[in-house]
Amino acid sequence: MKAVRLHAKNDIRIDEIEKPKPKAGEILIKIGAAGVCHSDLHLIHMGIPDGAPPFTLGHENAGWIAELGEGVTDFQIGEAVMVYGPWGCGHCAPCQQSMENYCEHQSKSPILGGGLGTNGGMAEYMIVPSSRLLIPLHELQPEQVAPLSDAALTPYHAIKRSSSKITPSSFVFVIGIGGLGHMAVQILKKVYSATIIAGDIADDKLELAKKYGADYVVRTDRDTNSVVEEITHITGVKKCAVVLDFVGNNPTLVLGAQTVGLNGDWTVVGLGGGKLDWHCMNQPWGASLCTPYWGSRVELMEVLDLKRKGLIDIEYTTYPLSQALEIYDKLAKGQIKGRAVLTP
Ligand SMILES: [Zn+2]
Ligand SMILES: [Zn+2]
Repeated sequence: MKAVRLHAKNDIRIDEIEKPKPKAGEILIKIGAAGVCHSDLHLIHMGIPDGAPPFTLGHENAGWIAELGEGVTDFQIGEAVMVYGPWGCGHCAPCQQSMENYCEHQSKSPILGGGLGTNGGMAEYMIVPSSRLLIPLHELQPEQVAPLSDAALTPYHAIKRSSSKITPSSFVFVIGIGGLGHMAVQILKKVYSATIIAGDIADDKLELAKKYGADYVVRTDRDTNSVVEEITHITGVKKCAVVLDFVGNNPTLVLGAQTVGLNGDWTVVGLGGGKLDWHCMNQPWGASLCTPYWGSRVELMEVLDLKRKGLIDIEYTTYPLSQALEIYDKLAKGQIKGRAVLTP
């Protein structure tokens, strides 16, 4: 079968590899769709640890049960499923609570899930090590939902930690209306009632934010003081109860520190590699900075329920697996609108 594999730093290839066979407890998934994600680019630029074998990319996967390993009885062949991305040990307290994104053994393992150190879903078939990592799709189709396993789950988790602060009278500032940011706006609009302010450096992204329910949009590619002034004009002196930064570069970190309110939540999801000169007077009293990672299995179920109820949607285009290299190139150049989904 064909697979998109990372061989070394900046070296991805489409290889012909053997179709895998599930061992006891494992499940073989016939891939229906695999999302192409920005974090793959970080992975491609970092390469794989020395001595580790090449592996298949793709951590946003959905498809159908193709074969059950010995002892797996809770799924039927042909059933449509979504693969939960962050694979923990399954036994520690966070994993037992379905938060495998915070598995206690994560730091000891270079494998953070399929497509992240071990074979993922950019192939015709993929092995999933346990049925606990699968969520039935029922009537939903794999290509409609594959990217939700990251692009919706990650903002959903980031937003949920601040649930108690997202009230009808509060303001939430979403910075960066890309793949994750446009999902964040939808989730905030459909699940909560706070006033949503969206910030981006591009007008078409701000248009997207408006389409999905942002109450205010702000261009952020100018002097920080004037952006802060514009936001404070909207919020008044209390500023934003929650700032969700889906960029995480130097200017957005400065912006976050200056727009979060007293006792607010300042959540940085974007892996933009920004650095901030920290000082205790840099941010309002009581404000907390958090860098959440992905989301839990139960949260992914909730995301799928939002999709089922027609409350969230993801803009995506499908491409054949053979175009993967070209798609990564376009993604790096910012030429992919919404999400690219490979359909092997
Ligand atoms: Zn992703
Ligand atoms: Zn664990």
